[in-house]
Amino acid sequence: MRKHVVAIVGRPNVGKSMLFNRIIGERLSIVEDEPGVTRDRIYAKTDWLDHQFNIIDTGGIEIVDDDKIINQIRMQAQIAIDEADVIVFVVDGTMGITSSDQEVAKLLYRSNKPIVLAVNKIDNPEMLNNTIEFYSLGFGDPVGVSSVHGIGIGDLLDAVTDHFSNIELNSYDEDVIRVAVIGRPNVGKSSLINSILGEDRVIVSDIAGTTRDAIDTPFEADDQRYVLIDTAGIRKRGKVYEKIEKYSVLRAMSAIENADVCLIVIDGAQGIIEQDKKIAGYAHEAGRACIFIVNKWDLVEKDDKTYDRMTKEIHEQFIFMDYAPVVFLSALTKKRLHTLLPMVKFAAEQHNLRIETHLLNECLRDAMAIFPPPTDKGRRLKIYYMTQVSVKPPSFVIFVNDQELLHFSYERFIINKLRERFNFEATPIKFFVRQKT
Ligand code: GDP
Repeated sequence: MRKHVVAIVGRPNVGKSMLFNRIIGERLSIVEDEPGVTRDRIYAKTDWLDHQFNIIDTGGIEIVDDDKIINQIRMQAQIAIDEADVIVFVVDGTMGITSSDQEVAKLLYRSNKPIVLAVNKIDNPEMLNNTIEFYSLGFGDPVGVSSVHGIGIGDLLDAVTDHFSNIELNSYDEDVIRVAVIGRPNVGKSSLINSILGEDRVIVSDIAGTTRDAIDTPFEADDQRYVLIDTAGIRKRGKVYEKIEKYSVLRAMSAIENADVCLIVIDGAQGIIEQDKKIAGYAHEAGRACIFIVNKWDLVEKDDKTYDRMTKEIHEQFIFMDYAPVVFLSALTKKRLHTLLPMVKFAAEQHNLRIETHLLNECLRDAMAIFPPPTDKGRRLKIYYMTQVSVKPPSFVIFVNDQELLHFSYERFIINKLRERFNFEATPIKFFVRQKT
């Protein structure tokens, strides 16, 4: 099931990002280990009591070539309205209501989204009186908070999560394959979605199964049910902020979160750029099945080596994603589009593969026979056994005598053996090492 999304909005300097950090606070250290996710963070998973949700700091999304603050504020508020189930509107309790606050409020009135008003910088109880004037904004009871001192955050999160029970989320049966189409702007995501849905053998179900505005598109092809995650956001064109990199990363992250299989779309005519790598990296780290789509194949001059060359280049550029198949197609001419859905189905099966323990250990024994576990400073690594603990993605625990002795290269070797033996393709594999003495 999708998780609720909360967005933080407000004019500059009210303390949005500090509040964001405070809310995700203690959990920050856990995710900090994941490379690439921490810097410039505007999107995070968090929880409060029994609620798990995602939170967006819209303050981190900036229009670079527009120096008018007011446009920035409007854009951020609009993103919050588009993306969030509940909006936290932050104002500054030491400043009173400013005209920029009123601008934000005006946009939020029209949004029909639940709004929680947070009056920040209420650093001590005497300042609570400062919250009173904010009633006039018309968003009900203002919640006084101090992001710096961590005061009132619990009350704020109570008010936010109280709204969740009124907002139903899409949920899909286990056998429905959830597909996210991700990639930077202009690579052809919406063209691809339109092409998939426009195919003859695709039946788009009219019961969207959605309660909120129909953000996902369910369909069926060759007796398999799929849902394209978050298609509304991709197909709705012409927003001013659509081409902002941070926004496209945000979109990708939220789609990835709700997907089984990610289609990472690359512009075949332009080649791979840094932003493609970033987006692909998120899908990989999130443990989703991944397929590279080289789109606009109609524009590429080809000879008999182009496929191989491009596939090789992709696997070189996207380090650690050499498991991901590459599909070449043209969303525009629909050339080779028919190869896509069978590949998606295959990837979803791989993502959900479960290997019996005795087969795993057979594979492990064979691997160790070819290349015995290394010694380090006179001590030899002993691997006792391994077992699969979960699917989506396939995740394994391996028990060893001493964690320190299992070096990265040997771990890679075992993972590669697993891939070879069980034909794991299209999916990342997670590997946990446990010490057992
Ligand atoms: P998005 O921003 O990733 O959703 O990209 P769009 O689907 O809006 O496509 C961006 C541009 O690329 C549009 O002008 C499309 O017509 C064009 N385009 C998309 N797919 C193809 C393709 O396969 N071949 C060619 N030649 N153009 C394409």
